[in-house]
Amino acid sequence: MHSQAIDFHPPAEEAAAFLLPVTTTLFADRAERFEALASEHSLSDWLRFLATLSRAQQQALKALPPLALPSADSLRQARTHGMPPLDPSVRPAAWRDALHQIASTLRLEAPEATRTELDALLVVSDAALEKLADSLMSGEPEATDIARLPFVAAALQVVFTQLASQLDAGQLQALDAHNVCPCCGSPAVASVVRLGAAINNLRYLHCSLCNTEWNVARAVCTTCNSDKAVALHEVEGSQGAVRAETCDSCKGYLKIAYQEKDPRVDPVADDLATLALDMLVDEAGYQRSGPNLLLIGAYSG
Ligand SMILES: [Zn+2]
Ligand SMILES: [Zn+2]
Repeated sequence: MHSQAIDFHPPAEEAAAFLLPVTTTLFADRAERFEALASEHSLSDWLRFLATLSRAQQQALKALPPLALPSADSLRQARTHGMPPLDPSVRPAAWRDALHQIASTLRLEAPEATRTELDALLVVSDAALEKLADSLMSGEPEATDIARLPFVAAALQVVFTQLASQLDAGQLQALDAHNVCPCCGSPAVASVVRLGAAINNLRYLHCSLCNTEWNVARAVCTTCNSDKAVALHEVEGSQGAVRAETCDSCKGYLKIAYQEKDPRVDPVADDLATLALDMLVDEAGYQRSGPNLLLIGAYSG
């Protein structure tokens, strides 16, 4: 089995509790993964478009000006109160520039209906963009906003990934809720069982917004912490690189990706390439515990 170094800051002597995102490669690697998953996939056009989106995210991240972290005082206060240091409702204005850059890049390759949405995003007021971001973060977006939200999410991912990467991992602490990001408080999109020196076979949850990862026990529900009623499911004929972990205590589920099966797995890309698995566990009555922000609106219907 071939394994490769993972794209996160290397852990110290013992397994790292937190893996901050590596901004130089994260979205470019995700783009490559989307490309690879797109071949011979029934949703190949959509996955290829998401590869283009991820590449645009990488460019937008590179173009970001330096971003200010919360003050030392707010960071200390958050720590004292067991709160994450970043607050997604406090957005640096640079996210709107990131959105403009992403929309300008994508419109050249987008299908016509999507291009109309992107063009609209390029001309709406800052206030309207902030409203869209609020709508996304509320988790209950307006139906009329939905087609634009994946792009809003992509831009917010760019700035919060940058902010998270600037934090000091040594100052982070695990939160009471296991499925919530210790950097920004957003729910996890999926978990990954990682390969690599000092983290071999450890499981990390992956933030849906800032791409931080944090270590959680295996075979325990990431939502309610029960170890009694957890089961793994996969779609027949799949290679087993992605499974759904369901819990009969809280009736929740989240996917889990295995680097051992494929070292290139990406929690966001592999999640979107396995929507059949969501349908399978949905039908069995389980509810997903964390969103994939690039999916909102894309295939709801
Ligand atoms: Zn986060
Ligand atoms: Zn549970």
